[in-house]
Amino acid sequence: MDYVQLGNTGYRVSRLGLGAMRLPMIEIGDTSYVDIERATEVIHRALELGINYIDTGFLYCNEEAELVVASALEQWPERDKVVVTAKCTKLRLGNDMEQKGYLRRMLEHQLWKLRRDYFDFYLFHGIGWDNWHDIDRRTGWIKDMLQAKDEGLVKHIGFSFHDTPENMIRLIDEGIFELVTCQYNYLDRANEEAIHYAHEKGLGVVIMGPVGGGRLSVFPKGIRDLKNLSASGAAELALRFVISHPGVHVALSGMSTVEMVEENCQAISKGPLSEEERRTITAMMEQNKKLADLYCTGCQYCMPCPNNVNIPRAFELYNYYKVYGLEEYAITQYKELIKRGNDASQCVECGVCLERCPQHIDIPRQLKEVAALFSQVEE
Ligand code: SF4
Ligand code: SF4
Repeated sequence: MDYVQLGNTGYRVSRLGLGAMRLPMIEIGDTSYVDIERATEVIHRALELGINYIDTGFLYCNEEAELVVASALEQWPERDKVVVTAKCTKLRLGNDMEQKGYLRRMLEHQLWKLRRDYFDFYLFHGIGWDNWHDIDRRTGWIKDMLQAKDEGLVKHIGFSFHDTPENMIRLIDEGIFELVTCQYNYLDRANEEAIHYAHEKGLGVVIMGPVGGGRLSVFPKGIRDLKNLSASGAAELALRFVISHPGVHVALSGMSTVEMVEENCQAISKGPLSEEERRTITAMMEQNKKLADLYCTGCQYCMPCPNNVNIPRAFELYNYYKVYGLEEYAITQYKELIKRGNDASQCVECGVCLERCPQHIDIPRQLKEVAALFSQVEE
């Protein structure tokens, strides 16, 4: 396992991190619970192979991930050498988010769950510029976070991020953060420049979704025909692409089996892709993007649709199918849209979305094509 300095935080961490959001589960009655024995095996195998960075979240695995990580670590002789991050999560339950002291209550509860006196890293979970401030106005969570740091309950403050790259830079410029966890992979490189910025400012940079939520577990069109790639599999290529960005320190993977841990550790141990491989893949994906005659940027300005069509997602899946050759993934995901009543066939051509689209896409017409494609391939 390779290790790297995590920005200016002083920690040396493994280039592969264990995301605790996909620990193996079992069904008891109607509910899923963590399969404690198998999850412990996964965590212990990861530690054995040198992983020393574990990312947890309050809601992960039906709120059991933190407990299971704590219990697995208690049985591990070198547990003090493992960095565990926790996150203050926005819950949508009742009016709790309206209450002052929300972060403090969650932090204390998580310290108890993870059996710790303090967190090395405590993150605002899944924030964007606007909601970070909105929630602060209601709960005072920024002040509470800073106070927790003053009291030594939190050593370093971070954020995990779902917003535009410009807003990632604005958040970094707030000056209180030492770690960012964000999306990045070779299919979605939107955060590429913001990651450079985070790195320059000395933040630790941790990547979630290096395999694009499973999309890159198969080779996209074009990439599968490339000769002389040093990666032997699609997931390996995706992981090694992520760590070949000079600003990235850790690629997180939500691993559910011991085999996955072993495969991913082996992949990461081959190191970053070469500059040339990185350039080739980037160029190929840019070429794929140009081939997309349906150029939806995913900006969401057309939403909400009064008839519940998830317009950007329907277009995205169409492009995955037609342009990137990710057929299987696109079909599975499109079925999810159908299940939720958000698929393209729900469009009644009311035209409300038309003037909102900066790309001037004839949305109802394109949705017809999307619906036709998926009804054809599903038969
Ligand atoms: S035209 Fe179709 S997609 Fe657009 S708002 Fe109306 S129903 Fe929704
Ligand atoms: S407004 Fe246009 S470009 Fe933006 S998500 Fe909707 S369809 Fe795509």
